[in-house]
Amino acid sequence: MADIKIDKIAKTFGNARALDEITLDIADGEFIALLGPSGCGKTTLLRIIAGLETRSAGRVIIGGRDISDTPTRARGLAMVFQNYAVFPHMTVYENVAFGLRMQKADEARIKAQVARAAELLHIEPYLERYPAKLSGGQRQRVAVARALAVEPPVLLMDEPLSNLDALLRLEMRAELKAVLREAGTTTIYVTHDQTEAMGLADRIAVMHGGRIVQIDKPTAVYSRPKTTFVGGFVGSPPMNFLPVTAASGAIDLDGLSLAAPRPEGNLLAGIRAEDFALSHSGEGLAFDVMVAEPLGSHTLLTGRSHGQMLRVVAPPNGDYPADTRLGLKPDPNRIVWMDAASGEALR
Ligand code: ATP
Repeated sequence: MADIKIDKIAKTFGNARALDEITLDIADGEFIALLGPSGCGKTTLLRIIAGLETRSAGRVIIGGRDISDTPTRARGLAMVFQNYAVFPHMTVYENVAFGLRMQKADEARIKAQVARAAELLHIEPYLERYPAKLSGGQRQRVAVARALAVEPPVLLMDEPLSNLDALLRLEMRAELKAVLREAGTTTIYVTHDQTEAMGLADRIAVMHGGRIVQIDKPTAVYSRPKTTFVGGFVGSPPMNFLPVTAASGAIDLDGLSLAAPRPEGNLLAGIRAEDFALSHSGEGLAFDVMVAEPLGSHTLLTGRSHGQMLRVVAPPNGDYPADTRLGLKPDPNRIVWMDAASGEALR
């Protein structure tokens, strides 16, 4: 079993607190994405789990074994870090075979595993080359192949697809997900790319300022963010936050009445861009189109409503010239109500 328990891990650099008592339980075979903006502590947490960084407090337990003070080599982890270090004096084949050789695997197994990993990462044409003769993206794929070849029980990855172009990233994402699921590998994957986290992970841990602010299934993080930060960080475009005032248990949006979650007070209505119905006759919240972006599957409208910028998903083939006034009717079942002062979702 390779379940991982992160128990109150804290880290300070001098006076600066990089991690604030992080607690996280990861099930055997689960894929967790650590998602957050630059500087939120993702890499530091991963490096502490790997034993590459010292911790200030807390414990890391893998498969029931406290490995907090175990040297990196003896933790039984495979890892792919941002600098995708590959051995320059070895061919790609030997790089990918490296972990298996360390395990004293027999030649037939090495050959089969290298072939499998190479096929998955599309590096078969380069197996006899040396890393110096590869592009950054190719080298990165060698690093991923090397980690996968040993079929590790636990895999730690820090932005392993960052050097690939968009199409290759998309393809690698799907293949990586399939292969790790099949192998039953417990994976912790650091990324600041919310699409990648949504696509890959069983659960996403959203980090902000050295804390985990929400941990949930991707769909829950997307549709039920616990804070305005999460709603704004996850999803593209970010969630809209419309300031509204409840009076006598109702909220008035230009004549459209919504049941309020509280009788009185200031709230934010968190509404995803795709959760508005559009009225061309102008019923509902007044919205003036500023820019329409035809994105193929839909048109993304950016505009203003009572001085507030909103993003709205519209059907793909409509014509939405600037200054068109539309009426917006939010789907009341999909609104996430937030306290205006704290930015936290109401329960
Ligand atoms: P990025 O996506 O940019 O890599 P991150 O979320 O991985 O960001 P970390 O690299 O974990 O963030 O950094 C967390 C905080 O700790 C940052 O404020 C960073 O400046 C600080 N930090 C990281 N490493 C050190 C160090 N060796 N010495 C001092 N401060 C550090």
